[in-house]
Amino acid sequence: MKTYKYKIGNQSNTIRIGNLLDDMWQVHEYFHKWQRQRYKDGLPYADYHAMSAHLTDLKKTTHPHWRALPSQAIQEELKRIHLAYDRFFKRLGGRPHIKKRHKFKSITYPGPAGWSLKNNRITLTLRKWNPKTRKWQYDKVPYTFHKHRQWHGTISRITLKRDACGNYWLCITTPYTDFKPLPTTGESVGADFGMKDAYLTLNTGEKIQSPQFLKQSLTELRKLNKALSRKVKGSNNWWRALHQLARLYRHIANQRKDWHYKLATDLCRRFDLIATETLNLAGMKRLWGRKVSDLSFGQFVEILKYKCQKHKRELRQVGQWTATTKPCSDCGFHNENLTLSDRRWTCPECGSHHDRDINAAINILRAACDPSVEQQ
Ligand SMILES: [Zn+2]
Repeated sequence: MKTYKYKIGNQSNTIRIGNLLDDMWQVHEYFHKWQRQRYKDGLPYADYHAMSAHLTDLKKTTHPHWRALPSQAIQEELKRIHLAYDRFFKRLGGRPHIKKRHKFKSITYPGPAGWSLKNNRITLTLRKWNPKTRKWQYDKVPYTFHKHRQWHGTISRITLKRDACGNYWLCITTPYTDFKPLPTTGESVGADFGMKDAYLTLNTGEKIQSPQFLKQSLTELRKLNKALSRKVKGSNNWWRALHQLARLYRHIANQRKDWHYKLATDLCRRFDLIATETLNLAGMKRLWGRKVSDLSFGQFVEILKYKCQKHKRELRQVGQWTATTKPCSDCGFHNENLTLSDRRWTCPECGSHHDRDINAAINILRAACDPSVEQQ
């Protein structure tokens, strides 16, 4: 699966996507509340088909305006609600919650119906009420998007998105998978994630620093936050300031993602096998706070997985209960006295000097190649 993202430019009818999202949010809110009321009344849970039947009734009686919405996208939303409740009943997830209107950001067309694509133009098939004939009639609404690259494969679904900056995006998903194997190098690497000295420490002794994009933009963030707090909430100026702030956050996120892609590609070029630790993100957040989100190890690992698949590299993740920090990489002595603040230490058993992170990286690579160690 691969998703391509295209920006939909501002045009006279862009607002209709926004209205569409707001109307779809009403469907979302209505069915969540309906399920909750049924639960309170002691009625059995209504599954996707029951919700679908109820929707047909609503369209005929109290909610005729929902006929204007694309039926494929409504059905997809009902499926999402059903899945959320299904997970809840199987104790796989928490109680499904109702999204706030501005948090409802996307609608999905699961198949080839309801839209058509030609070059850089997508045409949505919406409906509108014709007062003369007193009937609902099809209304084809075209949107042009910035097609900066061609997608590969047949389209399996499309999603329309609204972001916090007030921009709209078209996401095209295809079953295509990138596969561009790189020549083998015969090299393996162990990599240790870190907070203090370096973002990534390799067993070769190399330390890769994170540019810390959030920190770089902190002054500007404060400035925009201050400007926002001076505006009257809900006013035009307030919205403008809010979008400016959202744009800066998006810029930071893009910078970070770009750097992650480059780092992952670089590792794939140099090594056949890449070994890392499984991350305990919740634990890290408790320990380090905001810095974790700025470093976003989780995103980097996902990108690394994708790149390894694309370039035919092997990624091994050592289970989080494997000891990698405390054992000496020369003699295997477990240094139980090691604390978080010890960046360098000397092994009391064999006397070798260690850099904490490099030692861990060596242990990670060794554990990844050891068949007796739990791999994930
Ligand atoms: Zn030792």
